[in-house]
Amino acid sequence: MLTVEDLTVAFGPTTAVRGVTLHAAPGTVTGILGANGAGKSTTLLGIHGRVPRSSGRIVLDGQDVTGHDTRALVRAGLALCPENRRLFPGLTIEDNLLVGAHGQGRKVRRQRLRGIYDRFGWVHARRAEPAGRLSGGQQQTVAIARALMSDPRLVLLDEPSSGLSPVAVDEVGEALRDIARAGTAVLLVEQNVRLVRQLCSTAWVIAHGEITAHGTVAELFAAGAVSDAYLGKA
Ligand code: ATP
Repeated sequence: MLTVEDLTVAFGPTTAVRGVTLHAAPGTVTGILGANGAGKSTTLLGIHGRVPRSSGRIVLDGQDVTGHDTRALVRAGLALCPENRRLFPGLTIEDNLLVGAHGQGRKVRRQRLRGIYDRFGWVHARRAEPAGRLSGGQQQTVAIARALMSDPRLVLLDEPSSGLSPVAVDEVGEALRDIARAGTAVLLVEQNVRLVRQLCSTAWVIAHGEITAHGTVAELFAAGAVSDAYLGKA
């Protein structure tokens, strides 16, 4: 279980995220929804220690990890799959995956690669190819697999559907459902309403850097909280 309490992130005079408190439970996909510029990406980056926080407490499975740097957070079980995938296009798929297990011994890295290849057969078949040769959807799957290489308890995922065809979005959705089913928590920033409806049990709505609603996705849609947020009115 991830608990974030009172997270605030400011960039100079701009407070991008203000007093955000949220939870994400194991075995579920929890959404963070909101309009462009609402503070969704900054929330993930703030949780993962990639931007300085003005306030905030981050607790993972009862362990206070607030003071941890990014590397220590990954070791504690918190992985980030950033916006735009950020693969190394000239490196092979396997070498991209190994980046996710940086600092682990050879045996552990081999074991985790085996786990990824068992889960995604086509990744194994194409492991020696440069990542840049893959389609957008395949690159997204490899980016998610790279996050799984750290054997996380929680994956923070930023807009995995961005730039993908509907078929590729479905494939990514399927992969995320499997990951949650295996017991990992997923905290998902996503603008694709269909994917949110398919995957997320509950969601937090954020507007102008603050949480404005929380509930099941069905409740949020019924109450108009999600469409309002997407239109930038929330
Ligand atoms: P999008 O869906 O467009 O990615 P978002 O909800 O993820 O939007 P953020 O990227 O978190 O929103 O941005 C929240 C606010 O913080 C915006 O006003 C943005 O301009 C500002 N911001 C984000 N990153 C920085 C930065 N590095 N320096 C200055 N301002 C920033």
